[in-house]
Amino acid sequence: MDDPAPALPPPPRLVAIGLKGLCPRCGAPTLFSGLIAFAPRCAACGLDFTAFNVGDGPAAFLTLIVGTLVCIGAIALELTAHPPFWVHVLIWVPVTLGLVLVLLRVAKAMLLASEYRNRAGEGRLAERDPR
Ligand SMILES: [Zn+2]
Repeated sequence: MDDPAPALPPPPRLVAIGLKGLCPRCGAPTLFSGLIAFAPRCAACGLDFTAFNVGDGPAAFLTLIVGTLVCIGAIALELTAHPPFWVHVLIWVPVTLGLVLVLLRVAKAMLLASEYRNRAGEGRLAERDPR
């Protein structure tokens, strides 16, 4: 997290980082190496992405947000159209999977960027003055 920062343009906005997978320091689209896997470091500025740990934070947010949206949609559909159960399965299983995959990437990127901006990290004991 304490990499020396070269001269860089202003950092991108949090929403842009989340939607485009941008590096929180330089704004290059280098944050992800796969669909939802972080790259080890930024290929443009060298920021070490392994120094950040978003943990299960994005999954916890998505469970609540996607679960709420899918439940509201399923209840609204049931109350208005009364479709058979298999229609619910055909609609809500793919919607849930799609929302989780898309939003997990966004949420992970935004949490990593928040850690970078707020210099969040594990707690450390302060050095005492030896006097
Ligand atoms: Zn970078």
